[in-house]
Amino acid sequence: MLVDYHVHALGHLTSRHTLENLEAYLRQAKTRGVREVGFAEHDRYLSDGYYDFPNLEKARSLVEGVSVRIGLECDYFPNKLEEIKKKISAYPFDFVIGSIHYIDNWMFDHPDYIEDFKKWDMDELYEAYYRLLAESAKSGFFDIIGHPDLIKIYGHRPKTNVVYLAEPALKAIKEADVVVEINTNGWHKPVGEVYPSKELLAAFCAYGVPITLSSDAHQADQVGRDLEKARNMAYEVGYRELATFKGRKRSMVEIS
Ligand SMILES: [Zn+2]
Ligand SMILES: [Zn+2]
Repeated sequence: MLVDYHVHALGHLTSRHTLENLEAYLRQAKTRGVREVGFAEHDRYLSDGYYDFPNLEKARSLVEGVSVRIGLECDYFPNKLEEIKKKISAYPFDFVIGSIHYIDNWMFDHPDYIEDFKKWDMDELYEAYYRLLAESAKSGFFDIIGHPDLIKIYGHRPKTNVVYLAEPALKAIKEADVVVEINTNGWHKPVGEVYPSKELLAAFCAYGVPITLSSDAHQADQVGRDLEKARNMAYEVGYRELATFKGRKRSMVEIS
């Protein structure tokens, strides 16, 4: 069974939560054999009023054979824990993804700020990134850790093996009993590699960390993109189950 637990129906505010748009996303899911779609917009769109919860609820019965889950992709900032808590309790979400897009105030995945990579030693940057990832898992706010090696987005690599640098996060994620996603969007970014890499995914598997699948679609035609490829990779490294969520309760389904 294929599931897609990280879908932005608002795109980059390039579309809205109209029933037409939501239906287009769900039809694409059906075409690609995806049985569950988790809509998860960025938390900044909560306060801006772009989340249309009544329409998202209606979307649950829009396309036969495709279940809808309503989620949130929430930035993790170590100094904004109260704000995060508030955002997560703004709606009875089915699941919440915790994502690191910032180190201090640097939005490292934004092409406008790519020059700032030069300010860092790559090993230290990866360590800082994985410290934050570990903290986000320990915070207890999240069900899924988003794109768990996003720091590689523009191809900057550490000297030291990434699995070694990621180890504190691997441990924290396991102890916190949180899921990581295989996010296929990485294949379409400058780095040209899925998040996480196969090597890192194998390490997650060895630690016994559950996974789910996601496209990080920002437009309808991207829903379900490369999920079969991701599923095959997961199977190859030893995974046999995928995590799904409803009302923030996890259940596991067979990966086949
Ligand atoms: Zn993200
Ligand atoms: Zn996203």
